[in-house]
Amino acid sequence: MYCVCKEHVEIAIDRFVDEYEEAPDVVDLQKTHFAAWDPPPSCEERDCNQDAQFLVI
Ligand SMILES: [Zn+2]
Repeated sequence: MYCVCKEHVEIAIDRFVDEYEEAPDVVDLQKTHFAAWDPPPSCEERDCNQDAQFLVI
């Protein structure tokens, strides 16, 4: 799964499809709270320091 900012969500979806050969679910982290897991605070894309906004899973 990938935690990414708005700008990188399409890249993360493409990467997910390449890796798993199926379409991911995209979760808006601002609308969803997880009981047992905190998402990383920033985008996982290299050299990106923006807040993570979407979970591609
Ligand atoms: Zn980013």
